[in-house]
Amino acid sequence: MKVHISVDMEGIAGVAHGMDTKLGAPHYEYCRRLMTAECNAAIEGCFEAGATEVLVNDSHGTHMNLLQEELDERARVVRGRMKSLGMAHGIDAGTDATMFIGYHARARGGDGVLNHTMRSRDLIDVFVNDEPAGELRLNAALAGAENVPVVLASGDDVLCAEARDCLGEVETVEVKQAVDKYTALSLHPRVAQQRIREGAQRALGRLSSFRPYTVERPTTLRVSWGSTSIAALCENVPGTKRVSSREVEYTSSDFRELYRLLRVYFILSDAALAVPYTYD
Ligand SMILES: [Zn+2]
Repeated sequence: MKVHISVDMEGIAGVAHGMDTKLGAPHYEYCRRLMTAECNAAIEGCFEAGATEVLVNDSHGTHMNLLQEELDERARVVRGRMKSLGMAHGIDAGTDATMFIGYHARARGGDGVLNHTMRSRDLIDVFVNDEPAGELRLNAALAGAENVPVVLASGDDVLCAEARDCLGEVETVEVKQAVDKYTALSLHPRVAQQRIREGAQRALGRLSSFRPYTVERPTTLRVSWGSTSIAALCENVPGTKRVSSREVEYTSSDFRELYRLLRVYFILSDAALAVPYTYD
């Protein structure tokens, strides 16, 4: 049994603020240890439940956060962000299940701790067939395109509700409650790690009860930007339609194509924001 684990940082127990999650920020070195420990808990649960192979994809920021020497040596790790499938990298047809650890709620989906969707700057929202889509739904749909179910999601209470709403009977582990976007009421890290380990075991113990998350095809991806300039730039991608001053959309029957395109849009948005003559 081959298991994939995508690990983000905002949904790790104890993490509450950008000062915890950004490379070079005051608490980052401490919080990457917490992230590594939660990842280890999931890996341990997987092997206890009979996994023969675990592939971990570091999925936060630089995608270079996990302390590799401290990771369970039975797992292999993908480190670095230059990969076309980003947070979902490593999910393929040979994967039996994927787990989303340390995930956070989508932008505009409530007061989830550090809620956002891929980028905070100048993105308003992402929609898949008119359904608001955060990182959880986007990565679940990518896994679904490879026929792989999401069996476990961990994070705050808002993320866990989002996961159940999107995926039905997915196993969830709530490691903290969102008090505000920048404040969390968290379990002790060791308690959270124990629950994640047990959650991973429970999920794989009922693997046959999960179905991959699939979206209706053809599928339309719509992205709503805070800046008309970014929408105008994205419109240059062949096949992209500008549907309003701030929105673009693209339709395809292959979700993997939409996922990769979304990453291209984000790169274009970074380029637009890097132009030094925009002072608004
Ligand atoms: Zn992140």
